[in-house]
Amino acid sequence: MTAALATTPLTAADRCDRCGAQAYLRVLLMSGGELLFCAHHGREHGDALRTVASDIQDETHQLVAAPTAALEER
Ligand SMILES: [Zn+2]
Repeated sequence: MTAALATTPLTAADRCDRCGAQAYLRVLLMSGGELLFCAHHGREHGDALRTVASDIQDETHQLVAAPTAALEER
Protein backbone atom coordinates (compact mmCIF):
# COMPACT_ATOMS: atom_id res chain seq x y z
CA MET A 1 0.00 0.00 0.00
CA THR A 2 1.52 3.28 -1.12
CA ALA A 3 -1.60 5.42 -0.90
CA ALA A 4 -1.03 8.64 1.00
CA LEU A 5 -3.75 8.41 3.56
CA ALA A 6 -4.61 11.02 6.12
CA THR A 7 -3.66 9.22 9.28
CA THR A 8 -3.65 12.17 11.60
CA PRO A 9 -4.73 10.87 14.99
CA LEU A 10 -8.28 11.71 15.89
CA THR A 11 -8.65 14.22 18.67
CA ALA A 12 -11.39 15.43 20.98
CA ALA A 13 -12.07 18.10 18.36
CA ASP A 14 -13.16 15.42 15.88
CA ARG A 15 -16.86 14.82 16.23
CA CYS A 16 -19.23 12.09 15.06
CA ASP A 17 -21.18 13.21 11.99
CA ARG A 18 -24.28 11.55 13.38
CA CYS A 19 -24.48 12.55 17.02
CA GLY A 20 -21.65 14.97 17.77
CA ALA A 21 -19.89 12.68 20.24
CA GLN A 22 -16.13 12.38 20.09
CA ALA A 23 -15.12 10.54 16.94
CA TYR A 24 -13.08 7.36 17.10
CA LEU A 25 -13.40 6.27 13.49
CA ARG A 26 -12.38 8.13 10.37
CA VAL A 27 -13.83 6.66 7.20
CA LEU A 28 -12.19 7.59 3.93
CA LEU A 29 -14.68 7.13 1.14
CA MET A 30 -13.84 5.80 -2.29
CA SER A 31 -15.52 8.97 -3.59
CA GLY A 32 -12.85 10.98 -1.81
CA GLY A 33 -14.91 12.21 1.09
CA GLU A 34 -14.37 11.60 4.74
CA LEU A 35 -16.75 10.71 7.53
CA LEU A 36 -16.23 10.70 11.28
CA PHE A 37 -18.08 8.42 13.66
CA CYS A 38 -18.12 7.76 17.36
CA ALA A 39 -17.56 4.17 18.45
CA HIS A 40 -21.31 3.61 18.71
CA HIS A 41 -22.16 4.78 15.21
CA GLY A 42 -19.01 3.26 13.78
CA ARG A 43 -20.28 -0.10 14.96
CA GLU A 44 -23.85 0.60 13.93
CA HIS A 45 -22.90 1.53 10.37
CA GLY A 46 -19.79 -0.63 10.16
CA ASP A 47 -21.04 -3.11 7.57
CA ALA A 48 -22.38 -0.38 5.28
CA LEU A 49 -19.26 1.71 5.68
CA ARG A 50 -16.99 -1.11 4.65
CA THR A 51 -18.77 -1.29 1.30
CA VAL A 52 -18.06 2.37 0.46
CA ALA A 53 -14.82 3.03 2.34
CA SER A 54 -11.39 3.02 0.80
CA ASP A 55 -9.92 3.00 4.27
CA ILE A 56 -11.14 3.05 7.85
CA GLN A 57 -9.02 4.51 10.59
CA ASP A 58 -10.22 2.81 13.74
CA GLU A 59 -9.15 4.36 17.01
CA THR A 60 -11.80 2.78 19.20
CA HIS A 61 -8.97 1.13 21.11
CA GLN A 62 -8.35 4.60 22.55
CA LEU A 63 -11.64 4.21 24.37
CA VAL A 64 -10.24 1.31 26.34
CA ALA A 65 -6.99 3.09 27.08
CA ALA A 66 -8.61 6.39 28.02
CA PRO A 67 -8.95 7.08 31.72
CA THR A 68 -12.51 7.34 32.94
CA ALA A 69 -11.92 11.00 33.77
CA ALA A 70 -11.66 11.76 30.04
CA LEU A 71 -15.39 11.11 29.74
CA GLU A 72 -16.01 14.08 32.00
CA GLU A 73 -13.82 16.36 29.93
CA ARG A 74 -15.44 19.48 28.58
ZN1 LIG B 1 -22.26 8.97 16.95
